[in-house]
Amino acid sequence: MSCEVKQKERAGIINPIFTCQPCGAQYASIGIKECIGIVHGGQGCVMFVRLLFSQHFKESFEIASSSLHEDGAVFGALNRVEQAVDVLLMRYPNVKVIPIITTCSTEIIGDDIDGVISKLNTGLLKEKYANREVHLVPMHTPSFKGSMISGYDVAVEEFVKYFAKKGKPNEKLNLITGWVNPGDVTALKHLLMEMKVDATVLFEIESFDSPLMPDGNAISHGNTTIADLASTANASGTIALNRYEGGKAAEYLQNEFDVPMIIGPTPIGIRNTDMFLQNVKQLTGKAIPQSLVVERGIAIDALSDLTHMFLTGKKVAIYGNPDLVIGLSEFCLDLEMKPVLILLGDDNAGYKKDPRIKALQENVDYDMEIITNADFWELENRIKNEGLELDLILGHSKGRYIAIDNNIPMLRVGFPTYDRAGMYRYPVVGYAGAMWLGEQMANTLFTDMEYKKNKEWVLNVW
Ligand code: SF4
Repeated sequence: MSCEVKQKERAGIINPIFTCQPCGAQYASIGIKECIGIVHGGQGCVMFVRLLFSQHFKESFEIASSSLHEDGAVFGALNRVEQAVDVLLMRYPNVKVIPIITTCSTEIIGDDIDGVISKLNTGLLKEKYANREVHLVPMHTPSFKGSMISGYDVAVEEFVKYFAKKGKPNEKLNLITGWVNPGDVTALKHLLMEMKVDATVLFEIESFDSPLMPDGNAISHGNTTIADLASTANASGTIALNRYEGGKAAEYLQNEFDVPMIIGPTPIGIRNTDMFLQNVKQLTGKAIPQSLVVERGIAIDALSDLTHMFLTGKKVAIYGNPDLVIGLSEFCLDLEMKPVLILLGDDNAGYKKDPRIKALQENVDYDMEIITNADFWELENRIKNEGLELDLILGHSKGRYIAIDNNIPMLRVGFPTYDRAGMYRYPVVGYAGAMWLGEQMANTLFTDMEYKKNKEWVLNVW
């Protein structure tokens, strides 16, 4: 019985689980109001990322590209950044925030985006846009390092560093949600409202579940404002729900402005939601109301109906964003399931030292593998060639063919999910998320029992 954390031994990646750093920076950027990022690189660095966002949310998002070509890749392309900023400001009179997001090519050729931002600030912006509030924020996100996860983390930190400004205490809590869905934001706001906590929810993407309005506006954007970001320095505390998606910004606010912070836990499952509420209580002094005790009770009741009969002992493989995957693993263990394979799609050396992963290593009483820098072949090969038997796969849509080809039931969770309708609308966090996840896992298993005629009669009598 052991739990090993090991890096994928093979060179190369066969069917990646994550995409590259600029994607994460773009995701953080679309969470800000009056913001359009310019990705300094080839058009594909935007085109494919926008497509992922659109597939996942079934909405449109605006992101620009400096559209690098051969001459720029050889001789440098800062002139294209200058032109792109000018065009964007002319085309969009309301845009105030423009992150300049680098890519693999522009980092390799050494384009100095910090330098060009200084030049634009003292030149173009003063001369042509003197009466406009414009913020150019550099984001270094080369794709040969990290992944979309670290790209998100870098971007959140850079935005906070750029805008946070010491002023009067605002008696608010900063909540850095990390890479979540609109349904998660709704669930988190609900918990905070029940506790009567005034919070600044950062990189707030609840509105990505956008209405189709009579005026036909079909562009989605987030709700975090410049004022929200500025006032992060004056909060009574910061909670970053995800260690790898916003944790650095929380540390920065503590180190620079003495804003106390708590990183994690990702509030997936009853145990982690309890801890989240305790953390909110610790930072704000607000009590946990009876209404949330009742919600907790309803979720526990729903889960107890399922755990012993259907979930206990079920072997699960989980892949996706690290905080999500770790939270799901902890929740599965609480439900007496057996996460046997955990795949983390980049080579962050910090994973091995993560206390949650250490706790998994110390506490599991069966064989579990945690693979870093993993790809989908790590999952597929074990199933096809090494006899790995699974009852369930938890992960995003990019792994769907492994589930389909091998007849393994799969619950879609994480980003991107495009082959099931409306999944972004449902939370995985909070008591509501625990209940939804538990019930969806059970329903997925039920459908499989019926399809394979495997003790489906049990469903008549429970
Ligand atoms: S790997 Fe490089 S070229 Fe490809 S999308 Fe990412 S940043 Fe762009």
